[in-house]
Amino acid sequence: MEDIKMMTECFNPATGEKLGESPVNTVEDVARAIQKAKSIQTIWGKMPVRERVRLLRPVRQFLSEHADEIAETISRDNGKTRIDAMATEILPAIMALAYYSKYAKTFLKDRHLKAGSILFANKRSYIRRESFGVIGIISPWNYPFAIPFSEIVMALLAGNAVVLKTASETQMVGRLLEKCFQFVELPQGLFTYLNLPGKIAGDAFLENGIDKLFFTGSVATGKYLMKKASEKLTPVVLELGGNDAMIVCEDADIDRAVGGAMWAGLSNAGQSCGGVERIYVHEKIYQPFMELLKEKVEALRIGYDADIDVEIGAMTTQRQIDTVNLHIQDALAKGATIFAQSKISDNPNYHHLLPATVLTDVTHEMLVMRDETFGPVLGVMKVKDDDEAIRLANDSNLGLTGSVWSKNRRHAKKLAARIHAGAVTINDHLMSHGLAETPWGGFKESGIGRTHGRLGFDEMTQPQVIINDILPFAKRQMWWYPYSVKIYSSLSGLAQMLASKSFFKRVKGFISLMKIVPRFFTKW
Ligand code: NAD
Repeated sequence: MEDIKMMTECFNPATGEKLGESPVNTVEDVARAIQKAKSIQTIWGKMPVRERVRLLRPVRQFLSEHADEIAETISRDNGKTRIDAMATEILPAIMALAYYSKYAKTFLKDRHLKAGSILFANKRSYIRRESFGVIGIISPWNYPFAIPFSEIVMALLAGNAVVLKTASETQMVGRLLEKCFQFVELPQGLFTYLNLPGKIAGDAFLENGIDKLFFTGSVATGKYLMKKASEKLTPVVLELGGNDAMIVCEDADIDRAVGGAMWAGLSNAGQSCGGVERIYVHEKIYQPFMELLKEKVEALRIGYDADIDVEIGAMTTQRQIDTVNLHIQDALAKGATIFAQSKISDNPNYHHLLPATVLTDVTHEMLVMRDETFGPVLGVMKVKDDDEAIRLANDSNLGLTGSVWSKNRRHAKKLAARIHAGAVTINDHLMSHGLAETPWGGFKESGIGRTHGRLGFDEMTQPQVIINDILPFAKRQMWWYPYSVKIYSSLSGLAQMLASKSFFKRVKGFISLMKIVPRFFTKW
């Protein structure tokens, strides 16, 4: 009988045009891919880092030669504008590859530890980084290229094999990612791209022996996967949802703050985990801030970016449109006002377009302020001072990123440290995902662990400590068998020597310790 392969069909959310198909893999494919990856990783993991860098670096050639094609594919598959695709997906990917290629060797170097106590003066310890083996990566549709790309690069440079599953909604981008890494001559089976429905992917990865899981997606799925991972204690990094707050201080540059709020809140049609969702504006500048925000939001162009002349593209999924509409309806029913709204393209052939909407008279009883809306909606509240802004910003179960807008950078830094979020930007927002050197990850239910930067790179390896003894002629430690009263009183003396406030007791402790030092050098 002919083997009929299931296909995921992909459509342009803005036009409904069919873009292509992606074959669906099975759980058996996952098992095979992981087994193959495990065997090849044992060789890859032992390769010198510079050799791994040499093999991976040419991916940048693929990126530069195919940048326009990748931008177009991202735009058509996900709905975002090509400028969003270029600025927030392709450029960060190029910068990430350059950064990790440059620093992989430094990050993987042994780290020597300073001795902690005179008691162990004969010990010299260092931490070496050991790759995990096979890293499983599951990624979402909102940044379908940049998010998995840097994780793949870090994982491979750190000596791991990778099995990747990208979102079903953006398979055309996923298949391009696959091509990126096929462009370089990696050992067969070191990197495997699989297309699986989400609901079976997590179990398939975790039951078939991946050594660590990097998941980016919703809080609900993250919680499910963590529970599942606990069965074998598979380590996880979870990059989950955000409901980011932006605090606009009384001395903020209003032009900049309005521009930043709009870009970070509305680009990618607001479907950014680290995008602005809630804005708290000091009462002294509330009015001019809102006037400018209204003028600029109403001027936004929303449509399909065939000619690169729209600011906001299409929403990726109907499910997300439903969530956004639910949040707006809930807010209006509870007393919110639509303060400003843009128009959408009147071309009847374009779908999945939502107007950018600014809501006022909002409260923390409304879904739009409590939950992640993940759409082109900004809820704005007037606050009387910084303390109120901080209290409201932190009134959330999520804590991915946040921002403070002020001309006084010292003051802004103090406020930033009071926001409970994994990354806080001053006079900017969202862009730090593109800084390869800054760790990315959230507080609270926004996730666990970090990707990006040195901390993110460290997540791709596990620390192994090697403790060396520099007295090879020593026969034993002072406290080894056989035990005696003398050993006990010497160790008790040592406790005094190390911790007593009294000089006399410390000296006495030292003398008592000296009584068992010869044990080092005598046979038992
Ligand atoms: P989602 O959890 O539904 O899906 C994300 C990925 O997980 C997709 O590939 C999906 O197919 C897969 N998936 C779904 N169920 C699964 C399961 N049971 N086991 C394994 N994989 C499964 O999330 P979504 O709604 O598609 O994505 C949007 C969410 O992702 C938002 O909450 C957003 O904030 C979050 N996100 C977070 C970050 C971050 O860096 N913190 C980045 C991007 C998106």
